[in-house]
Amino acid sequence: MNKTIQLYNQDSHMNKFQATVLSCTSEVTKDNTSHYIVILDATAFFPEGGGQSSDIGTLGGVLVVDVQEKEDIIYHTLTAPLHVGDTVTGEINWEKRFDNMQHHTGEHIVSGIVHQYFGYDNVGFHLGSDVVTIDFNGSLTDEDIRMVETKANQAVFSNLPIDVKFPSSEELTKLDYRSKIELTENVRIVTIPNIDICACCAPHVSFTGEIGLIKIVSWQKYKGGVRLSMLCGSRALADYNKKEVNVTEISALLSAKPYEVSEAVKHLKDEALSLKGQISNLNNQLLKFKAASIPEGTKSIYIFEKDIEPGSLRTYANMILERCENLCAVFAGSDDTGYKYILASSHIDVREIGKQLNEHFSGKGGGSKEMIQGSIVGSKEMIQGLLNKLETELAN
Ligand SMILES: [Zn+2]
Repeated sequence: MNKTIQLYNQDSHMNKFQATVLSCTSEVTKDNTSHYIVILDATAFFPEGGGQSSDIGTLGGVLVVDVQEKEDIIYHTLTAPLHVGDTVTGEINWEKRFDNMQHHTGEHIVSGIVHQYFGYDNVGFHLGSDVVTIDFNGSLTDEDIRMVETKANQAVFSNLPIDVKFPSSEELTKLDYRSKIELTENVRIVTIPNIDICACCAPHVSFTGEIGLIKIVSWQKYKGGVRLSMLCGSRALADYNKKEVNVTEISALLSAKPYEVSEAVKHLKDEALSLKGQISNLNNQLLKFKAASIPEGTKSIYIFEKDIEPGSLRTYANMILERCENLCAVFAGSDDTGYKYILASSHIDVREIGKQLNEHFSGKGGGSKEMIQGSIVGSKEMIQGLLNKLETELAN
């Protein structure tokens, strides 16, 4: 089989073409659906590779769901068969292809600038349908990244022409270009003037202006270097729109100017923290009053509280203990969520009672013979029942 003529090498903007079907074979996939593998004499479908997914579209009106390349032959996966010998029209899903070209060319610009200013190599590229990431083998500060982004967008605004050539071996030796693998012949060199020279076989836009905005939306440390997430063109606009809706909503909710929402949120958080402190103080006062309402010399007290904070539980137990002769038990929580508890007594050893509680209500916890704390899951009624029983036993 002759190698497939790669029309995208001649014209990256070709979205419709005609070609002859050289072969069509059926294939049953793992999920038992039939697919057809078609080879053409020429194609504008770019196969999967170099970190980006393949083109999709139609051939002779049939869906092309995947495109792969092996030894210069391009294999199109179709959902229905084509007749061998027929001339068919191929149509590329242009929205996807153009989006790929924008991000791919944007990646060249960002990688070229990082290489120029910091000397780092692009060691990983992933062009997914929602995230696009570029990995570099060196670290960049926030300011570095903002500088790279500014310079990348200046390259877009300058609408630089993108040149694609297959230089001779001799020319190639004189050329300083970025390449992931050592190549010696048939090397496709993509040049963006003063920005980047790189060996690459994928389709690119013709002028940098086609890329639109290049936005680095996030970055993180990655394998000793840095991973940048980048959005270009329509995806950058969609991202802007989503964030704008959010900021506008927050701005209206907080009556703050859009550029000042983070300050407003900080204020709100501080306020919430201070209110939390006030509520905690009030709660402690309330607990004091509640404890004071218990007659002194009460034999045993079991108290169930829903809203008591875990931090106040011990203080509350101590306040009640002063008024209680026998066993003092405080439970915080509910039948559904379970209870945190404290058992305390100045006369009896509470450890055995705690052990029984934990055994009966899948609990855990421990402490001294005067006071133990833990957590259990059970109904208030049953917990009270067990405590009554244990107390009677202890009394005898
Ligand atoms: Zn490229």
